[in-house]
Amino acid sequence: MKPRVVMKFGGTSLGTPEAVERAARHIVREEAAPVVVASAVGGVTDLLIEAGDLARSGKDFGRVLGEIAERHRIIAEAVCLEGTQLAEFEGDLERMLHGVAALGELSPRITDSLLSFGERASVHLLAAAVSRLGRPARAFASWELGLTTNGDHGRAEALPEARAEIGQAVKALAPGEVPIVTGYIGRTREGEITTLGRGGSDLTASIFGAAVGAEEIQIWTDVQGILRADPKAVPEVEVVPELSFEEAAELAYFGAKVLHPRTMEPARDRGIPVRVLGTFHVDCDSPEPVSGQGTLIHARAPEEPIRAMALQQKVQSLHVHSMRMLEAPGFLSRVFEILARHRISVDVIATSEVSISMTLDLYEGDLDKAIEEISSFAEVKRTPGRSILCLVGAGIRRDTGLLARIFRMLAEEEVPVHVISQGASRINITLVTEPPHGEKAMRRLYEGLFGRSEKTPQ
Ligand code: ASP
Ligand code: MG
Repeated sequence: MKPRVVMKFGGTSLGTPEAVERAARHIVREEAAPVVVASAVGGVTDLLIEAGDLARSGKDFGRVLGEIAERHRIIAEAVCLEGTQLAEFEGDLERMLHGVAALGELSPRITDSLLSFGERASVHLLAAAVSRLGRPARAFASWELGLTTNGDHGRAEALPEARAEIGQAVKALAPGEVPIVTGYIGRTREGEITTLGRGGSDLTASIFGAAVGAEEIQIWTDVQGILRADPKAVPEVEVVPELSFEEAAELAYFGAKVLHPRTMEPARDRGIPVRVLGTFHVDCDSPEPVSGQGTLIHARAPEEPIRAMALQQKVQSLHVHSMRMLEAPGFLSRVFEILARHRISVDVIATSEVSISMTLDLYEGDLDKAIEEISSFAEVKRTPGRSILCLVGAGIRRDTGLLARIFRMLAEEEVPVHVISQGASRINITLVTEPPHGEKAMRRLYEGLFGRSEKTPQ
């Protein structure tokens, strides 16, 4: 049997008729048996969110609905897809929005159903494009191929048995026909549609890759690969050729938006390499295999002192101070219990004997309530505008002079550093600074660490 590869295409790789055509060409020329995972057409998930909000607040959602239909129509026309399937989805979507408007309420369960229309439509467009180029292809909702999840709407997780079920389902498919599967969405055993979290199609790709024992999981995107820094700060930035799963996960958590942070888990579990490739950068007509292109994430990446940096802007930070913290067992757990109860997750943290500084991930959390509760036993100060600069590289734990060099460069640029933290893995250094300094710091560090004049010894 031919080896399997999973090929995932993101929204911008499916945003226009030309992009869909390119994606289809990449699929057609792949020699292994591909399982394709598709995101929604670029921008459609955001439009669906907007339509849901408008409907809930009793406003007119017609324009947004029209815009979604139009984006799909332009591509459908180019790939000669007959309208019936898309028209059915649009009808269902419109009825659902009227329901939301009538109730004036949008539950997480209905939100997930609404959002699912993006991926449910795009797979038909891509399947039509691939078939038109002469390679048989067929669209599937992920659950038709075994992806069942728990019921945690908005951030559902695949059930443990999903892997085996996906493996079986894919094996049973007609040989020679390329399955084009919805990313991002799943379904519970009870038949409720769920989503895996924004950007979750990468995770779908990785779940499928692990389930079918793929040779490689390819993430096709609008950049050439994972970049060493943010191109807004460093326009001439280079691509990272190789990195480890741990390094990729750290980068993804701290704002390098190329990969969903959880993507690395299933792949690493089964030791399957993940390759990030540029849909518009790789030649889609060349018979050459893609090996050697983009960024390869795998277990045996050669070590470098610093691999890459990521910048996360406009982060909330919280500073908790209390003299009572001194020798008071349970103080930290009390603070974190409150944050957890209000669904706030903590990204970066540093503590002293009497204070805790942290940055927060405000995924639907209620920070005001949390602050009110913590204020009953400690002083709390909240700062909304912080930036997190994260440096990642396995060499950090070995190169003792590195930290000193980094701080010298930051001092030269007069970059204020509020919190410094090093993860237990010791492959990252995280600095909390202020937005105008974030990009400046990144540029200076890039020059110093990767620049020609002071190129880091390999
Ligand atoms: N369409 C979803 C989103 O925009 C999932 C994805 O693209 O990965 O978040
Ligand atoms: Mg993405």
